[in-house]
Amino acid sequence: MNEFPQVLTIAGTDSGGGAGVMADLKTMQARHVFGTAVVVAVTAQNTLGVQDFMALPTKLVDEQCASLATDLKILACKTGMLADAAHVHAVVENLKRYDFGPLTVDPVMIAKGGAALLADDAIQTVRDELIPLATVVTPNLPEAEKLTGLTITNNATMVKAGHALQTLGANNVIIKGGHEANPQTANDFVLLADGTAFWLSAPRVATVRTHGTGDTLSACITAELAKGQSVASAIKTAKAYVAGTIQETIQVGHGHGPLNHWA
Ligand code: PLP
Repeated sequence: MNEFPQVLTIAGTDSGGGAGVMADLKTMQARHVFGTAVVVAVTAQNTLGVQDFMALPTKLVDEQCASLATDLKILACKTGMLADAAHVHAVVENLKRYDFGPLTVDPVMIAKGGAALLADDAIQTVRDELIPLATVVTPNLPEAEKLTGLTITNNATMVKAGHALQTLGANNVIIKGGHEANPQTANDFVLLADGTAFWLSAPRVATVRTHGTGDTLSACITAELAKGQSVASAIKTAKAYVAGTIQETIQVGHGHGPLNHWA
């Protein structure tokens, strides 16, 4: 019997269930792969924001990775919230030590409510150590600006940032345009390893229930890569999946509500 596809998220938790490891596992479940998780940090969080967080000792990150590597067969993995430079570095060491398949890097920096989920001095570690390992990197506009040092004001600068991320070592890039001003559509720029570039547009949905969209996109890409899809089709599938989860929202909490993974 063929082994069931197993995937991994290396990230932070969200006690509110909408983002981070929880969103990743829900997405993986919905995409019919077996989700596993290496927890890097624990947040006290709800739909109103992040109240507190603490990173686990890096030794425990190492041990979780070793536990998986000695038993499971991880076909693809992603990273999310990594907290600080020491944890980014620890995760990088584990990704070099073990074969967890193609890596999707979601360079999580700041939550919608404004909480910093990555220390400022860790951005350089992400840029220098983690991005070069990435099969796919999935920054939003502010993250792409921080990683490349560019100011993104229009499509042309988004394209420039995409190429800059490839120069940093990422194979494939999707820059998420959800933070741009355009009221009608959310436009993402995709640049593939072979130089192919295209835009993905989705109608902008008037909702506050968008908590965890970035996590969900990168988790879905990871799931699809594990199932053998090409990077281009994994990205397209993930974009469509996120759009679906935003369309028919569910009422949970009083703030930025979670996505609907049953949609
Ligand atoms: N909490 C954790 C642990 C996350 O990983 C993320 C996003 O990656 C967030 C919160 C923020 O989610 P959002 O900005 O969608 O509210």
